[in-house]
Amino acid sequence: MKLLGRDQLETLAKFQDKEFLTTSFFLDTSKNRMSKKEIQVSLKNLITAGRLRLDRLSLPKDKKESLYQDLDEIKAFCSRNLPAYNYVGLALFSCSSRRFWKEFNLVKSPRNRLIFDRNPYVRPLSAILNEYHRTCLLTFDAKEAKWYEIYMGEIRLLENLTGDVPSKIKEGGREGYSSKRIERHRASRVRDFLKQIAKTTFMFTKDDAYDWLFLGCLDEYRLELEPLLHPYVQKKLKSRVRVKPNDSQSKILKEALAAKDLLKKQEKDEVVQRFVAEIAKDGLAVCGLGYTLRKLNRGEVQTLLVSRTFSKPGRSCPRCKFLFEDETVCPSCQIETNTQADIIDEAVETALNTSCEVKHINPHSQLDGYGHIGAFLRFKA
Ligand SMILES: [Zn+2]
Repeated sequence: MKLLGRDQLETLAKFQDKEFLTTSFFLDTSKNRMSKKEIQVSLKNLITAGRLRLDRLSLPKDKKESLYQDLDEIKAFCSRNLPAYNYVGLALFSCSSRRFWKEFNLVKSPRNRLIFDRNPYVRPLSAILNEYHRTCLLTFDAKEAKWYEIYMGEIRLLENLTGDVPSKIKEGGREGYSSKRIERHRASRVRDFLKQIAKTTFMFTKDDAYDWLFLGCLDEYRLELEPLLHPYVQKKLKSRVRVKPNDSQSKILKEALAAKDLLKKQEKDEVVQRFVAEIAKDGLAVCGLGYTLRKLNRGEVQTLLVSRTFSKPGRSCPRCKFLFEDETVCPSCQIETNTQADIIDEAVETALNTSCEVKHINPHSQLDGYGHIGAFLRFKA
């Protein structure tokens, strides 16, 4: 199944078995960067290293058997599917003793990883989804309007509308009164068509169906259309692209992706700047692992910011599920905490489970100077 939305991720993040561990497997399958043989080799290395790790794990026999079984199933799946696989990444989740199995085709390469844990390791998927905004692209002229959906690197035509607008009068054609009248008539038809376009655009973008709206048209039409757009639609309007209705889909996709990349970069820069300013004035934000986890435990986090490559072991309480940097005993339950291989991943999962937004920030941002992690808060406690 292609990884498409946050709801898939939330379902996955909720899976947890009391008895058996889950295996999470990520493979970079980008044929641009690697040959088929190299991909096979990294698969083999990953499975072999996983087996060695399992051999050394002190776990009850049946739990271990379940994980060995996971590795066998992952290996079998890959040998069946990799030869004709066309995505740049693969994610598999397995808990064989519970017959739990999920596969995701990824449009962005993950780091190769194999993880045994209490629940699926969803952080790489959350990071990928974070990169993709569902975009509606509208391109039109006086005769034709087209709406496209652009998501996960693919383009799809949503609707095609033709306007009943007479052609412009050619230079040196009819003159005088009648020519002015025809021009006025044409202008009013154009306006009707633009109203129809504005209405259709609202229909497509309402109910948060799209994060962004891109517009491809001549300036004269844009100036006329924008005031006709519903205020809700105007807010979604993020970028202009140099495309026309009769451009090929591949050209439209290329222009849209370039505009998206630029917007994403601007958006992240803006978030980090807002975060830094909020910290500076001691406002609604915290930084550093310890503080961030404390706020997350108390449900005070609105948006979690993590530097993409930041990873650190930590601890969690088996009873209240609170996350800690290094507490060996949970302060509220007074019981011993468990070690966690990557406390950042746990924090991302907690955030997803409690409907917090998660922003994965590329390294070498100002966030690195604030402990690689931080959060915007819902309120000031
Ligand atoms: Zn506790």
